[in-house]
Amino acid sequence: MIANVVFGLPVDKVFSYSVPAGSQIKIGCRIKAPFRNSVRVGYVVGFSEKNKVDFDIKSITEILDGEPFLSGEILELTRWMSSYYYLSWGEAIEAALPGALRKGRMTSNPRQGYFFEKDKYFVRPSELTEHQKKSLSQINQNSGFNVFMLYGVTGSGKTEVYIRAIERVLAGGGSAAMLVPEIALTPQTVSRFISCLGDEISVFHSRLTEAQRFQEWLKLKEGINKVCIGTRSSIFAPLKNLKLIVIDEEHDSSYKQQDSPRYHARDVALKRAQICRCPVILGSATPSLESFYKAVSKKYYLLELPDRVEKKSMPDVGVVDLTTVKRRSSRSMVFSPALESELKDVLGRHMQAILFLNRRGFSTFVYCSKCGYVSKCPGCNVALTYHIKTKTLLCHYCSHKELVPEACPNCRGGYLNMRGIGTQRVESELHKIFPNSVRTARLDSDVLKKRGELERIIEAFKNKDIDVLIGTQIVAKGHDFPDVELVGVILADLSLNIIDFRADENTFSMLTQVAGRSGRGENRGKVIVQTYNPDHFAIQTSLNHDYKSFYAQEIEKRKQLGFPPFNDLIKMEFRHKDEKKVKQAAQRVKDKIASVSKGAYQVLGPAPHPVRKKNNVYRWNIIIKVKNIEQASRMLYNIIGYNKRVDGVNIVVDVNPRED
Ligand SMILES: [Zn+2]
Ligand SMILES: [Zn+2]
Repeated sequence: MIANVVFGLPVDKVFSYSVPAGSQIKIGCRIKAPFRNSVRVGYVVGFSEKNKVDFDIKSITEILDGEPFLSGEILELTRWMSSYYYLSWGEAIEAALPGALRKGRMTSNPRQGYFFEKDKYFVRPSELTEHQKKSLSQINQNSGFNVFMLYGVTGSGKTEVYIRAIERVLAGGGSAAMLVPEIALTPQTVSRFISCLGDEISVFHSRLTEAQRFQEWLKLKEGINKVCIGTRSSIFAPLKNLKLIVIDEEHDSSYKQQDSPRYHARDVALKRAQICRCPVILGSATPSLESFYKAVSKKYYLLELPDRVEKKSMPDVGVVDLTTVKRRSSRSMVFSPALESELKDVLGRHMQAILFLNRRGFSTFVYCSKCGYVSKCPGCNVALTYHIKTKTLLCHYCSHKELVPEACPNCRGGYLNMRGIGTQRVESELHKIFPNSVRTARLDSDVLKKRGELERIIEAFKNKDIDVLIGTQIVAKGHDFPDVELVGVILADLSLNIIDFRADENTFSMLTQVAGRSGRGENRGKVIVQTYNPDHFAIQTSLNHDYKSFYAQEIEKRKQLGFPPFNDLIKMEFRHKDEKKVKQAAQRVKDKIASVSKGAYQVLGPAPHPVRKKNNVYRWNIIIKVKNIEQASRMLYNIIGYNKRVDGVNIVVDVNPRED
């Protein structure tokens, strides 16, 4: 027999090896075999008859597994991924396996780690709301591959719907996967799941060691555990008899893997559900345009939870127009009088506040310090990036170029400048308002780097050892703090200017999510949004918690520009030390696409990457708008080859990229 083997390398080819006489080997097993000049771990994906191969082939050196680690289902899923995301089959397989297995070894002695406890205070609702009941019965009535868009405002009881749907699956002997954006940030959700569903749950999160991760993976594979909760990579968990996939906060950008292998866990989940013929629940208070579009076009079932449970009202949202605020001191650059007085009120009553600052994205855009105006590309509606050397503004999608205006084109008065406010600045200004009397903590990406620090801060805030939590988008996600009565958004405009066509969508969802953190306890919460653009539709609709109005306006814009969900985007990033070569290769590929497709695809660029030079390597992009990714992918493979190189220039392919 001849084994067909793939490797976790960017070579999309299946290699043939002879199986040593007398040895047993199954599809999905790992082996070791000579490849180029070394012995590597490979994956058996099939067999062929010996007589069909007419050349000398090498033999497998070692068979690592008696029983396969890769099921037929996962092999099919990774095969699909390889054609959809420009990966080799082997690379896709390695994305699906725990690290311990990728390296061809098994690990033992898992160290004790961060475990979740049952939520002692959690009382399950005995009675569901009418909307919860209706949603659940829709889900229960439609087994098989169906997608449910569970659109529910923050605090409307989506979690209870997930739990009941999972309980039903477990009672029927099936298993379920639950995906969450970042598990360390949602300890309450996890604790509730454990309280309700018992101990047969594997929780995957970024703080597990490799050995712990592998142990949990094994429990699922052996059917000891029947539910897995985790971040994007848990979509590959080896659940047996999978009967339900839930994706909470389906709009969240963390489901998109930004490094190789670049995939989107929501897309992979939909494919896996299709293979297993099981339903998927996509839950969100601010659904992605892509998913909601499919729901309104009846490709998905639309389930709605329009009210908060226990009749809690949505928080009061007030907007502060920064163009009218006199900003004399450095303190008033951060806190408007309205926000300052609300803070004094809330802290005076010994309640808590969250201050939110969206600092993601690049700070290299130009905005007017008086009216907040930002220059955008007329063709792509993304913020233009500022290039200091040439004093120009540039669109990194289509390469549209203009000079930096002398004065603001909007108000004619202010100077355009680049300015940033960070979480540290917010904290120090806050201490000036409340000298010696306010206890603060910052929650930003620096904190996330330190193991255990996030949990410590969340715990301290829950115990009211901290009065004000200052953070970036991390604070917008999922927490449930009953004593938070004020959420202040320091500068809502920052997210309007992310250089991505999703900027407005991100702003809407960020503001809605962050506002949802307020008023989850007894009292009605308050939200103060500071902005230069109080009339912007993304801000206006989020103030009214009005997703549907936001959607109606945004979907029109997407249609006009031909952006998702009306087309998919494929970004090709060209990288080389010699910028001339990079530009030439990008142009050549663009021309080739035009001639091969006879102009069927619209190609934007070549345009410089927002960070044009990194580690002495220049980067230029082209973006292709496509109707069918798999079809476009076959065409692109013919042009750039499996090794993704043109004229010595390396190409990184990213399907539906995100720049946020
Ligand atoms: Zn201005
Ligand atoms: Zn443009």
